[in-house]
Amino acid sequence: MRKVYFDHNATTPVHPEAVKAARPFLGELFGNPSSIHFAGRDVRKAVEDAREAVAVFFGCHPLEVVFTSSGTESGNLAIKGVAYQPGNEGKHIVTSQVEHPAVMNTCRFLEKRGYRVSYVPVNRQGIVEPEAVRKAIEPDTMLVSVMAANNETGCLMPIAEIGEIARKAGVLMHTDAVQATGKIPLDWNTLPVDLLTFSGHKVNALKGAGGLILRKSIKISPVIHGGHQEMGLRGGTENIVGIVAMGAAFSLLKENMEQEIAEVRRLRDALERGIFERIPEVTLNGHPLLRLPNTLNVSFRYIEGEALLLNLDMLGIACSSGSACTSGSLEASPVLLNMGVDPTDAQGALRFSLGRGNSDEDVSYAIDALETVAEKLRAISPLYQPRKVGMK
Ligand SMILES: *Cc1c(COP(=O)(O)O)cnc(C)c1O
Repeated sequence: MRKVYFDHNATTPVHPEAVKAARPFLGELFGNPSSIHFAGRDVRKAVEDAREAVAVFFGCHPLEVVFTSSGTESGNLAIKGVAYQPGNEGKHIVTSQVEHPAVMNTCRFLEKRGYRVSYVPVNRQGIVEPEAVRKAIEPDTMLVSVMAANNETGCLMPIAEIGEIARKAGVLMHTDAVQATGKIPLDWNTLPVDLLTFSGHKVNALKGAGGLILRKSIKISPVIHGGHQEMGLRGGTENIVGIVAMGAAFSLLKENMEQEIAEVRRLRDALERGIFERIPEVTLNGHPLLRLPNTLNVSFRYIEGEALLLNLDMLGIACSSGSACTSGSLEASPVLLNMGVDPTDAQGALRFSLGRGNSDEDVSYAIDALETVAEKLRAISPLYQPRKVGMK
């Protein structure tokens, strides 16, 4: 059976070159990069080369790159790192209602610890409006945290404008750029952002490595206390394999990003066109244009997204339903509900996220499968019957 992987926003296949770069560090190159002897030096060099590759990719200084274990840890470090600075106790944070749990639950945690947080909603198209952020900023706001691109809808947030607003108000700006990295241009030199979160496994590197870019002038507190690693911002002997693979992935991305974006956009658009041409009663969730080039989130009326997902899985197609299954009850995605998507439509939402390795054949196979499965499920859907009769 054909296997079609359309879930790149969840994680990406590891690039063979990243594996190749990391392999020696699974074996002979085992030293501790903090050791000053020969065994440590080789490994230290590999870590610093990876830091350089990340810096070249984003256009920042290598010393502005802090390696962590994940996008989630980076989000924690950014937000708690600012919150835990002396003088910031109990201060105010502005974030959005559609953040990834890495940011959302960090903010909720801080709220329980006496900080105040404003969660700005998105508009009907899934976008955070800069004006809403401006209005939410208070005299004691210490941080604005708005994601660069949403993982479920692919919606691109106006982080440059939001960062400008934060800067004018004298407030630090963090962006969770885990999904945006490699899919849209992000230039550290021109972005008015102070802290930026990225993750390795979303850019064809390994799970368990990520990082935070942090402007030199900014002081934050560590969240993991220990040794002096990562400029004292993240104790613990580094995940060398993950960091080296990530460095390789960023070097490749620097070279190939433009072509890869063009290709993935072409395939995503073909999938979108095919679905809308062949399947009735489908709606797009999110902004049609201000969207990641690889992401397509659509609602199939009268069908449960989960049912579609499971049927597609049986045909070898991996995608995501965007809704979380909580203790057996199907819950619609809070991100879609927040945008004002009708709750029953939100139940029928599917996210297709394309990436490196996808082909035209994958797209046509998926369109055929979707047409068949949607028809089958609608035929047994009590919701669809009256409407079908009514339409004829
Ligand atoms: C995947 C993801 C994260 C978390 O990254 P991990 O490395 O898996 O912890 C954070 N934010 C967004 C938007 C993501 O898509």
